[in-house]
Amino acid sequence: MSEPATPWTRADPTLARGVPDETPRRERAAAGTPLYVHLPFCAAKCHYCDFFSVPAEGHDRAAMIAAILREAELFAPRAPRTVFFGGGTPSLLSIAELTMLLDGLDRITGFRGAALEVTAECNPESLDRDKARAFLDLGVRRLSIGFQSLHDDVLKLFGRVHGVDDSFRAFEAARAAGVQELNVDLIYAVPGQTAEAWSTDLTRVLRLGSEHLSAYNLTFEEDTVFRRWLEQGRLAKSPEDVELDLFELTRELTRAHGLEAYEISNFARAGHACEHNLNYWRNGEYLGIGPSAVSKQGTRRLGNVKAIGAYARRIQETGNALHWEEDPPASTRLAESWWLGLRLAEGVSAREAAERARFEGDDSAARKLAGELEEQGLLERQEDRLRLSARGLPLGDWVAKRFLDTLS
Ligand code: SF4
Repeated sequence: MSEPATPWTRADPTLARGVPDETPRRERAAAGTPLYVHLPFCAAKCHYCDFFSVPAEGHDRAAMIAAILREAELFAPRAPRTVFFGGGTPSLLSIAELTMLLDGLDRITGFRGAALEVTAECNPESLDRDKARAFLDLGVRRLSIGFQSLHDDVLKLFGRVHGVDDSFRAFEAARAAGVQELNVDLIYAVPGQTAEAWSTDLTRVLRLGSEHLSAYNLTFEEDTVFRRWLEQGRLAKSPEDVELDLFELTRELTRAHGLEAYEISNFARAGHACEHNLNYWRNGEYLGIGPSAVSKQGTRRLGNVKAIGAYARRIQETGNALHWEEDPPASTRLAESWWLGLRLAEGVSAREAAERARFEGDDSAARKLAGELEEQGLLERQEDRLRLSARGLPLGDWVAKRFLDTLS
């Protein structure tokens, strides 16, 4: 999946996850805290993907669900504001397995009556009308479908197990079942992709009329097949000028079809932005359960072990599957609050950045840097809020690095 269910796995350039000497500990999350549930099973491993997932076959899925529910009993918030089932491929679970998981989670958290938004990530090969209906009946109101490409040869290159027709069939099945909140995930800047080809594909998807679209520039993450192919010269990155053309084309076409760019890679009709992900970009707290899931509590980030067997065993034996934690210095937290907030169309003010970071010192270095970037035309101001300008948007990662290098 490419929707940033846990943005720290991809977007955080500060991550240097040290494994502490003692097992990290966390508290039960406060009522209302957003809840992320990581379901680690996929039909196959996509060649670009660095999320933690394993083949669905040959694993005890019932035991995994039992472990996730046990972890929820110990740590999940009551009445989470948002719930996001990511992975992995949540739609790969059978309706009976989903019922066990979602009924159990509702007993523990009461999410069905409380959450503003409940999302599940789905892949076309495992989403049909019955599954979509089951999601709705079980309290999931928003489905995110991984189309990724409209070309069967590219899907094959990606290592996906579905075809283009399956994606459209899954979308129509979800609509026919009555799902009113749909996201489509796409990846662009595929080697050899032209602006004309992307324009045709994106327009075809936009005509479906989804409430939300996530469109990501292809990345070559560490420990992926694509990174290895890149290093071996079997794959080449798209030239930067092509990436920029495709990025700008994406913003133009989405706008023309009534979707607002509320974050660098995320587009929504008014009132349909993903609340769960907005909380990440606003640097809010969240609780993650399931193998590899990350939580943010106070100023700390904590992550579960990235292994199916070890996760289930540790939950069963001690109730605690945490494997790492980090408590970044206040200046790093401030840098993060700035660069995350600047990615949003709503922007961020200096006061908000400091509050979100729980930063109480002198933030003049951050304000000075923001002023310099504004003078260079990379940031633009709306009253006391700043955000990336049209010129700065494609340079979002570079701006993030400037904040981290200057403040950390
Ligand atoms: S479906 Fe592919 S991209 Fe999504 S989590 Fe599984 S391996 Fe990763």
